[in-house]
Amino acid sequence: NTATRTFHSLRPPLELPPPNASLSVADYVFSVRRNSPWSDSVALIDAATRQRVSYSEFNHWTQTLAANLSSVVGLSKGDTSFVLSPNLVNVPILYFALLSLGVVVSPVNPISTDSEISRLIELCKPAIAFATSSTVHKLPKLRLGTILLDSPEFDSLVTIKTTQNNLPLPRAEVSQSDEAVILYSSGTTGKVKGAMLTHRNLTATTAGFYATRLQRETPAVALHTIPYFHAYGFTFCLKSVVLSETVVLMEKFSLRGMLSAVEEFKVTHLAVVPSTVVAMIKDGLTDGYDLRSLEGVGCGGAPLGKDVIAAFRSKFPTVVLAQGYGLTEATSTVSRLMGPVEVRQPGTTGKLMSCLEAKIVDPHTGEFMLPGEQGEIWLRGPSIMKGYVGDSEANSATFVGEWLKTGDLGYIDKEGFLYIVDRLKELIKYKAYQVAPAELEQLLQSHPEIIDAAVIPYPDPEAGQIPMACVVRRPQSSLGEAEVIDFIAEKVAPYKKIRRVAFVDSIPKNASGKILRKDLTKIVLQTPFSRL
Ligand code: AMP
Repeated sequence: NTATRTFHSLRPPLELPPPNASLSVADYVFSVRRNSPWSDSVALIDAATRQRVSYSEFNHWTQTLAANLSSVVGLSKGDTSFVLSPNLVNVPILYFALLSLGVVVSPVNPISTDSEISRLIELCKPAIAFATSSTVHKLPKLRLGTILLDSPEFDSLVTIKTTQNNLPLPRAEVSQSDEAVILYSSGTTGKVKGAMLTHRNLTATTAGFYATRLQRETPAVALHTIPYFHAYGFTFCLKSVVLSETVVLMEKFSLRGMLSAVEEFKVTHLAVVPSTVVAMIKDGLTDGYDLRSLEGVGCGGAPLGKDVIAAFRSKFPTVVLAQGYGLTEATSTVSRLMGPVEVRQPGTTGKLMSCLEAKIVDPHTGEFMLPGEQGEIWLRGPSIMKGYVGDSEANSATFVGEWLKTGDLGYIDKEGFLYIVDRLKELIKYKAYQVAPAELEQLLQSHPEIIDAAVIPYPDPEAGQIPMACVVRRPQSSLGEAEVIDFIAEKVAPYKKIRRVAFVDSIPKNASGKILRKDLTKIVLQTPFSRL
């Protein structure tokens, strides 16, 4: 009976509030934290400035900020706020304040270009923006203006109770089913879309982390190298607070900066993407740093090669390297490895998070597969997004009833370990950043000397994949590789750049004109570069 071929999570079940309970994810996190043995440990450390924020300051400041944003700035439940900032200490404080007010948070990569930002603003329709002095020039005028996170104005909103709010803040009636964040993802096809996650989605993922916590004598010190505008970083903010971890954050990532922060702040856990693990195993790079405090490295966002895992283990035998798998549309983490026994399982991304169910579906026949058999991973559960903002077409292509089609190919073995085999969807991941081929193809096609173009993932040992353009030039055109690269580079954020170009006679397409990207990738990989 194929209908019963559902894989259930083998993690402890969650005690979640009812789906319509009046409880924001911020309230949920603070209520769990009341049981913490470390009520006033250090919450945040800025690795560059060494600024420290204690948990009592964190609680106090998020409440003061929420009160001021409501009474002074005029934000209210249901408004959307656009956040354009690197990882600063003020970002987690802002997130918790906005979430507790029921204001939808929409964080965006601060290196996005003006035109990328305009498109996202059209999607999420914000009332206000929070930016920094270096990103503010990219923003249009919004109804409630822009507040700079690195300004004295913001500091006073965080610390000074105004006369208007000497009275207790009227509690915003935030329900679990309310929207909490809009995060951007290209999903399985096409251009960027706004994935809408509810307070319940975030509560489920956070509760999943809490349910699987390991007992400790002292709080973990977690260094987040991952950006807070991405689902991985956003949910790790919530995870760290619910677990009363000390978070070390870096405004600008560099390997050496990360290593010296590990040494200085005695970091116990790192949250990274595969390109950072690849950098850590390079000869000599970690020499000269005292990394003895490190207990675990959590890695997600893109596949981690088996050779890289093996090299890391032999270089750092006492550090537990645990891979996780997730996607924005499932509120980030879907599966992860936990503890020193599970991480010995080679090549897996771990067991499903609490409350998630999966089906493995043959992409050609639609048949539900058995343990060990490959197919597209479908997911159902309280952490699955509500849908893409205002995009019914994308929603109907992504959901089958309550099931989310991930666009990833994989299998689950008899012990419940999930293995990711390939990506069926069009997405390219450059250092775990999303690059949507359709967006770059549209730009390439606007070049007067280009007749047709397709963008494919090209394997790269450090970045995982790089975007490669296959270009059909106009007859007699002498357009060169560097010109194609420059043409795109000036229009997109740096991580989306085309980094390799092949000139081809035609782009393979199916009868309805859809680019046969897999076929093209195979041709490109099998052809010596000089003959393309
Ligand atoms: P994002 O929404 O940016 O987190 O991207 C999600 C996508 O990244 C997934 O659908 C996968 O294609 C890929 N991904 C994330 N983690 C892994 C992993 N551990 N192994 C393979 N692919 C991954």
